[in-house]
Amino acid sequence: MTASLEIRRQLTESPVPAERRAEILANPGFGRFFTDHMVTVTWTPERGWHDGVLRPYGPLSLDPATAVLHYAQEIFEGLKAYRHEDGSVWTFRPEANAARFQKSAHRMALPELPADDFVAALDQLVRTDCAWVPAGGEKSLYIRPFMFASEVFLGVRPAREVTFAVIASPAGSYFAAGVKPVSIWVSEDYTRAARGGTGAAKCGGNYAASLIAQQEAAENGCDQVVFLDAVERRWVEELGGMNLYFVNDDGSIVTPELTGTILEGITRDAIMTLATESGHKVEERRVDIDEWREGVATGRITEVFACGTAAVVTPVGSLKWHSGELVIGGGVAGPVTSQIRQQLLDIQYGRVEDTHGWLHRVC
Ligand SMILES: *Cc1c(COP(=O)(O)O)cnc(C)c1O
Repeated sequence: MTASLEIRRQLTESPVPAERRAEILANPGFGRFFTDHMVTVTWTPERGWHDGVLRPYGPLSLDPATAVLHYAQEIFEGLKAYRHEDGSVWTFRPEANAARFQKSAHRMALPELPADDFVAALDQLVRTDCAWVPAGGEKSLYIRPFMFASEVFLGVRPAREVTFAVIASPAGSYFAAGVKPVSIWVSEDYTRAARGGTGAAKCGGNYAASLIAQQEAAENGCDQVVFLDAVERRWVEELGGMNLYFVNDDGSIVTPELTGTILEGITRDAIMTLATESGHKVEERRVDIDEWREGVATGRITEVFACGTAAVVTPVGSLKWHSGELVIGGGVAGPVTSQIRQQLLDIQYGRVEDTHGWLHRVC
């Protein structure tokens, strides 16, 4: 580790009492509770990255004219720290998140944070708040690094003051009551990303743009929404925050290729490696929404699953659109989906050997 950024330590004088913390960790849910500390770092063109500080978790005070509130120059990341049987805590491919964060920064005209500094900031926060990493089940500590235009200025140009911050939030098992397939709504009226746009960057704006479609999905009784390409409105892209995989009856699996409008998931990438090693032929190519519908109808597509850090691997049980709907794989998690899900979790929780060097020890 050759992090060059110095992070000052300013510890809280009023940490959450151990008893209350234990109560929270018993049933953390997602994104509702936060650890005792956070990291903030400032960037200006003159001084570069400076004033790194690990400090008590708490509100940021923002001038109403802070640029991010107006022009959404913002990016984020999401990854987890996992507690293994022996009590040690590990993150999964944090350098991949660091690299993606740099790509997102580039697209949003934000300064790039050196990868080693990114990983070191996460490590320092998780190490300090190590007691907040839950044990057991599929619990974890969700880490949320983010960067935003903190300059107080209403002019439209890349900000000359930027803040990088890291917070962490204990997360419960996504499927507390067992893995449950999700129902998916095909967004025919709204798109998420277009060529040349920000679809491949992990920025808040993409999520803002997806919410109305997500709302439409909910109104139609669906859990999630799938977006199609913005030009022909037929190529399957991804969900609002998860990538997609299709399993064929010959054992091959397919995921939509990265065209610049799809977010390059780290889970997606890991699955490509694991599935190939397990003998599946893995293809990255365009998938037509009609291929999906016909493939399920004829039985060629046997399983569909979504993947991302938060839910790992989620079976897709049904697909619904304005004029129809269909059930996939009997509406239950299929064998390939279940096997890949288990394989990934076993690596993350240290139950099998990490042969890819994906785990990074934190504390
Ligand atoms: C973060 C994200 C994903 C999943 O990426 P992972 O690295 O696997 O967590 C997929 N799609 C979108 C739009 C995302 O923002």
